[in-house]
Amino acid sequence: MRVGTLFGLLFVVGFAIPAHAGDCPGHPDAIGTSRALVVDPTEHVRLGTMQYRETLPLEDHEVVLTFDDGPLPPYTKRILEVLAAQCVKANYFLIGRMAQAYPEVVREIHAAGHTIGTHSQTHPYTFPRMTLAKAQQEVDQGIASVAAALGDPAEIAPFFRIPGLSRSEVIESYLASRSIMTWSADFPADDWRHISASEVIHRAITRLEAKGKGILLLHDIQPATVVALPGLLRELKRRGFRIVQVVPASATAPKTPTTPEQWVMNGARDAKGDTTSDTKSTAPPVDITTVDSVPPVLPPPRPKEIGVAEPLGPQFILTPPATRAPARPKRGQIALPPIAPSPHDLGPPTAVIDGGLPAPGASKIGHQLDIAPALAPAMPAGAASNASRGDVTGSTKPKTRRVTTANMPKSKIR
Ligand SMILES: [Zn+2]
Repeated sequence: MRVGTLFGLLFVVGFAIPAHAGDCPGHPDAIGTSRALVVDPTEHVRLGTMQYRETLPLEDHEVVLTFDDGPLPPYTKRILEVLAAQCVKANYFLIGRMAQAYPEVVREIHAAGHTIGTHSQTHPYTFPRMTLAKAQQEVDQGIASVAAALGDPAEIAPFFRIPGLSRSEVIESYLASRSIMTWSADFPADDWRHISASEVIHRAITRLEAKGKGILLLHDIQPATVVALPGLLRELKRRGFRIVQVVPASATAPKTPTTPEQWVMNGARDAKGDTTSDTKSTAPPVDITTVDSVPPVLPPPRPKEIGVAEPLGPQFILTPPATRAPARPKRGQIALPPIAPSPHDLGPPTAVIDGGLPAPGASKIGHQLDIAPALAPAMPAGAASNASRGDVTGSTKPKTRRVTTANMPKSKIR
């Protein structure tokens, strides 16, 4: 089915609107979901102050949780449990290949009422250099893979996040021509950088407080995010933040009335490109002692519990993070902040799941991390031929170098 037809259907079928705020039976302390924001992707085609002038028309202290790169059990499933316990509805950006590997988890995300957008088929970092045909193929295949998992393409929101936030005019124009909304974010939590769960919470809260509201970029494939999420939701509630789910407009769900000014965060300040306002915040610093002292709703999972045979094994073959300058902003766009230009400098350790499908190798989802042979899981059927060529994205695999914990830079192993 052509994408145009696909998204024509979206506006007919419509999306379910979540229950009203505070409805979380049996969980009186849950943060819940305060409202659904219904948006028309044809009116506002690019979102997120990390890269664009416009962002979601949120009220002060409203936050949208976004999860990229999944699904990947057991992490994605654990995240779903935490969100369910808190009656939180989130926005997901799924990878086509991951959806092919774990279609049942895609259906779980959908059944839980979260919004499902897409994040390409193979998570390549080469969108800025891609031809239109190749970019189109990545987008369309990603949508088709997730649609196949769901069994109904109309259940996919016309929301797309470019892998690595590596925008280009080609991909942005293509998405706009298909009435697909390009999502950047307002701030990341750096949860792919192998930082501690406390640090994930600290960075998320500090950056959110600095802006007062916005789209938070998270990854449901990261162990640290799994551990951090209960504490993050508790801290958000303690500070008076409210969770908003974003859904596309449809025949049954008209767009939420907004003014153009509401789509520009903090008016002139952000329009000038002030996207690194962490240090300018007048909000009190996050008290990590407080964060850590709050008993978790769910205890932090033991490594084996979340399917990690060995979270950080003795030997990895790592590709050093690519250091690349952010793309020069075009008129009306804002330069990437110095923090976290790409969420994939280092991928997660590959997980081996007891009794289930092996997790895909990190390189399969675009991560430049291979586990040493002793830790490497068996490849799923069909993956071997790609893996043997060292090419799962259509691009040449970067050279790797062997790094051990002895000679690995400290910043890479914490
Ligand atoms: Zn990603």
